[in-house]
Formats: sequence, structure tokens, C-alpha cells
Amino acid sequence: AAKEEGGPSFRFFTRGMNEAAQQRLAIELSLRKALERGEIFVHYQPKVDLSCGEITGFEALARWRHPELGLIPPETFIPLAEKNGLIVRIGEWVLRTACTQARVWIDEGFSDLCMAINLSSHQFTSGSLTSLVKEVLDETELPPSCLEFEITEGILMERTDKTMRTLSELRDMGVRISIDDFGTGYSSLGYLKRFPVNTVKIDRSFVREIDSPHEDAAIIKAIIAVARNLNLQVVAEGVESHSQTEFLLAHGCNEAQGFLFGKPVAPDEASLMLRAGRWRDAPARAMARGR
Ligand code: C2E
Ligand code: MG
Ligand code: MG
Ligand code: MG
Repeated sequence: AAKEEGGPSFRFFTRGMNEAAQQRLAIELSLRKALERGEIFVHYQPKVDLSCGEITGFEALARWRHPELGLIPPETFIPLAEKNGLIVRIGEWVLRTACTQARVWIDEGFSDLCMAINLSSHQFTSGSLTSLVKEVLDETELPPSCLEFEITEGILMERTDKTMRTLSELRDMGVRISIDDFGTGYSSLGYLKRFPVNTVKIDRSFVREIDSPHEDAAIIKAIIAVARNLNLQVVAEGVESHSQTEFLLAHGCNEAQGFLFGKPVAPDEASLMLRAGRWRDAPARAMARGR
């Protein structure tokens, strides 16, 4: 029967392709208008100090609510924005928005707070990222040490002169640099020493393996050990369980981020988290282990 329907199903298949392509095109067109229309916004996900359970800061994560299609995940629209160059304007807007929000929280007394922002490689190659960052820090009167940029190993691997110069300039200003999704790229641990980096953020895929009895637990232990030896902060992303938390704590990981501690939320809800103080399960657990 499949063979007989070969013709029609082939047509159906190509029509399906066209629809997908059409939708992609439609999404791309509306992405161009999204910023002006106020459809892009930022959610904040807490990072927690594993030794005491305190919130050390937030990661700013871009969101897009399309008028007809609803929420479009960043995994869909960020790559699109990277392809058509819109990421530069979106990234600038996220930077301003997140720094303005950090200012609000610092004014409320959370002065040690660190705001983490994701950067795409285009933001390094188009215009001067350093001047933009200086400008935004000036506008928001934010101490540079309250700002951390998350970049992927890919950006380091490209190793263009401009990227390397910009990274050094940012570091010299006192802005922190973190390697996001660490372990998924092509870099070796030895690479870490050569770049002006403060923090390693272990990819969720390794954290997930902690609960299954395999060698990946060895990889994550090695990443933590080397990073600590190089005096780098270690953050684990995608922490969802207590057993993962125990493991990370036991092996010297400094901070964690994940649904166990809090999902990315709107600023109001993030404010509530901050005011509530520590992650509620942490004090008892930390006390139990004599910390
Ligand atoms: P990322 O920077 O690695 O961000 C972490 C992603 O993991 C977020 O997805 C977050 O919601 C999700 N996540 C956090 N904890 C957990 C957990 O416990 N379990 C699971 N399953 N997931 C968790 P999100 O917000 O969908 O963002 C996806 C990616 O989009 C980000 O990955 C980042 O690469 C990119 N992105 C988001 N906002 C921006 C932005 O403003 N600029 C740039 N350049 N990229 C962005
Ligand atoms: Mg990130
Ligand atoms: Mg990540
Ligand atoms: Mg990741």
C-alpha cells in the first residue's frame, strides 16, 4: 500500500517541507519586528552557592512571545537571529535589560549579586563589544564584577584576534567570563589556562550522568579537579536532583543552577526568590554535613 501511495505521500512530504520552510521564513520576518513590538523579554534563573545555599546571582535568558505562535524557545530563535545578524541587536537589548534589572536588585541591598549574560560570537565580531559594555555599565552604574558573560567553547576555538582582544579588554575592566556548556566543545582542559576565563560551567549532559553509574561521573570529577587547580570557579548547570547536588558538593563544585533550585522566571518572581534568601533545603542539609 505504501508503494501505491508513493505519489501522493511524496507530494504530501514536499508540501510539508514547504510549510516548514514557510513557517521558518514567517518566523524570521516577525523576529525582525519582535524587538520593536516588545515581544522579547528576559527571564532570570538563579545560581546557588552549594556550600551555603545562597543565591549568588542569575542568568539572563531571552524569551520571545510571538503574537500568534506563542512562546518560541531560544533554541529556535537564537540560531535564527545568529544567522541573520539580528542577534547583535537582541544581545544588546538583553544586556541593557539585565543590567538594569541587576541595578534594581543591588539597590534593594543584594550588592553581591552577579548577572550572567549569554554572548554569541557575532557580538564579538560586529562593532565594539567593549565600548557597548562600558556604556551599559556607565548607564546602570553597575560594578563590572557584577557582570559575567557566558561564552561557548566554540568562541574560544575560533580564536580570532578580535575576539581574544575583546575578551582580554573585558577581563581588564573587571567583567567576569564563563565558559558555558563546558565539555561539549572541542577544547581540552589544558586550554583553560590560556584564556582569560574566571568560571567553567559544566554542561547539563554531564550532570545528568551523575545519577547513572557510568564513566561520565569520572569526567565531571576531572573537570572539577582541573578547574579548581587552575583557580577557576566551577558551576554545574541543569541540576535537578538532590543526589546530583550531594555529588557536586562532595567533589568541590562551587555553584549550581538547575530546576531543583529554580527555573528561569520573570523579574517579579526572581525578586521573591532573592528575598526568600537561600534555597530552602540548603541550611538543614549543609548543617547535617557540618558546614
Ligand atoms: P544556556 O546558556 O546553556 O542556558 C541553559 C538552558 O538550560 C536554559 O534554556 C535553561 O532554561 C535550561 N535549564 C536550566 N536548568 C535546567 C534543568 O535543571 N534542566 C533542564 N532540562 N534544563 C535546564 P533556555 O532558556 O531555553 O535557553 C537555551 C539556550 O539559548 C541557552 O543555553 C543559550 O545558549 C541560548 N540563549 C538564551 N538566551 C540567550 C541570549 O540572550 N543570548 C544568546 N546569545 N543566547 C541565549
Ligand atoms: Mg548560559
Ligand atoms: Mg549552558
Ligand atoms: Mg548546556
